[in-house]
Amino acid sequence: MLIVMNPDATEPDIQRVVETIESLGFRAHPMPGSNRTAIGLTGNQGAVDPAPFAELPGVAECVRVTKPYKLVGRDLKHDKTVIRVGEAEIGGDGFAMIAGVCAVESREQAMLTAEVVAEMGCKWFRGGAFKPRTSPYAFQGLAEEGLKILSDVRDEFGLRIVTEAVDEPALDLTEKYADVIQIGTRNMQNFSLLRRAGQARKPVLLKRGMSSTLEEFLLAAEYIMSEGNYQVILCERGVRTFGDHSRFTPDLSVIPAAQRLSHLPIIFDPSHSTGNRETVIPMARAAVAVGADGLLVDVHPYPERALCDGPQALLFDMFRDLVAQARAIAEIVKQHSEAYSLGAVVK
Ligand code: PEP
Ligand code: MN
Repeated sequence: MLIVMNPDATEPDIQRVVETIESLGFRAHPMPGSNRTAIGLTGNQGAVDPAPFAELPGVAECVRVTKPYKLVGRDLKHDKTVIRVGEAEIGGDGFAMIAGVCAVESREQAMLTAEVVAEMGCKWFRGGAFKPRTSPYAFQGLAEEGLKILSDVRDEFGLRIVTEAVDEPALDLTEKYADVIQIGTRNMQNFSLLRRAGQARKPVLLKRGMSSTLEEFLLAAEYIMSEGNYQVILCERGVRTFGDHSRFTPDLSVIPAAQRLSHLPIIFDPSHSTGNRETVIPMARAAVAVGADGLLVDVHPYPERALCDGPQALLFDMFRDLVAQARAIAEIVKQHSEAYSLGAVVK
């Protein structure tokens, strides 16, 4: 259920609803919006009787949410969620470019890459310190040493750090060093890890499971939010199909579909979805055109020697080119969506 407050409801009114929800053994999730606050109620197994809330001061209405997810949906929060870390944003007016190395391999490799990312005016740096590898013999990441290098990247260039936690011990560590905790495709339904991410007080970048439906994807985000962490960024990274011309099949159609159902921002990873640097830029362009809130891109100073995912890493000049193209397309998309939202006639 969700309890919609009147636009002029006061903080004590909201607090009273929260306390009433908690006194019944449920969990309250207040979501302030631009016009009014709505309070999500979770923890119930069946329908909840609205009577204890309906008469409380400031309550406009109690609405039953019929969708399986409650907190990620637009019913509870119509305004888009914007993730902010310092000056860096995802889901706001600007377009977010999260770029960097697949795996942090050395200080030199991370710093050289970060320099180019910062030079292009991007605000976010990606880099894995814990790598989920298909083979147990492949390079697994530098672990805490990699996190320290990422922390130095932040100090040196002011970039905000996105890095993956592959399990709970890794999450404990990444929470200390990262600005955004990434949950990879293979862990999208690792429910204990999702709950742990929900207890973290840092934003979580959740990648879509490579064979999951949109509903499963949104329910994975719901796991995180149900623990009280509302700062979730969705990321499409390709799904498994019979197509064998590309590492995975980028499902760009999920971007507008997710935006219609959810207030959470959604970005696209053209690197892991295509697996091939030659197709990264065309697919990234397409994702910006369908309205993605950002991109997550692998770049490498010498990809032929990369310890992980070299074939998909952009060379520095390709990355510079991609940033320019993505910005130009994002600007056009923004102008047109403003035209739509103002009700203007689009010719
Ligand atoms: C990654 O972004 O480094 C990664 C491992 O991606 P995915 O989980 O999408 O395979
Ligand atoms: Mn990778």
